[in-house]
Amino acid sequence: MKLRTRPTLLIVSSPSGAGKTTLCRRLVALQPQFALSVSHTTRPPRPSELEGREYYFVGDRTFESMVETHQFLEWANVHQHRYGTSRDEVVRIFASNKSPLFDVDYQGTRSILHHYDKAISVFILPPSIGELARRLRARRTESEEAFRTRVGNAARELENYGLYQHLIVNDDLDRAYADLEAIALGKESVRPEPTLLDVERLIGEAKSLAGA
Ligand code: ADP
Ligand code: 5GP
Repeated sequence: MKLRTRPTLLIVSSPSGAGKTTLCRRLVALQPQFALSVSHTTRPPRPSELEGREYYFVGDRTFESMVETHQFLEWANVHQHRYGTSRDEVVRIFASNKSPLFDVDYQGTRSILHHYDKAISVFILPPSIGELARRLRARRTESEEAFRTRVGNAARELENYGLYQHLIVNDDLDRAYADLEAIALGKESVRPEPTLLDVERLIGEAKSLAGA
């Protein structure tokens, strides 16, 4: 089997709470040829987050001036805040001869695929929307309002699954990680990928929870 030797751009998305940050952090820890692309955001930092590690935390005016001076490869409004991938960040990762790993939403995915059509895109699904909500609550990072916004946005995010080449269900973390690593390294998938019916079931669950 021929494994990838050239740098690969990897995009990973999911509805909030499905586990993409956990999976991406494990991938860069175990496969250091990948480097997380650190985005800029106007979202306030969580207590566990560090400037320059999870994000570059900036105010609205700084973000706006970066938009006006074309410093972003892509940016989007997500969950009532702005997030963007700076061109400098991508240059920094390429200069270190690593493969960028982008944790961005579906809007960012669309833009990155437009720039780099060979990027590999992966969408992480929760096993159910009830479990997604449970994980989001257990993480204890969101206010009640932010929790509702994030769960309320899950259906729209899931509806964009067609942008992605690969789907992974994050039920058991180790199995989901094995799937992600296999995709990232260009190996044969470990488990069969979820089907359209699985995604449709989740979209239905997300819509009914948002409407409840
Ligand atoms: P996201 O980045 O998609 O919003 P996180 O990676 O922050 O999600 O995961 C949300 C919460 O769920 C975290 O507290 C994380 O530890 C937990 N988590 C992630 N994957 C699993 C899993 N397979 N089973 C149970 N809990 C998980
Ligand atoms: P969080 O606030 O939970 O860290 O991230 C919220 C959402 O913003 C996630 O879906 C994440 O993938 C997305 N996101 C983070 N950085 C970027 C970015 O630079 N661009 C875009 N488009 N989305 C991002």
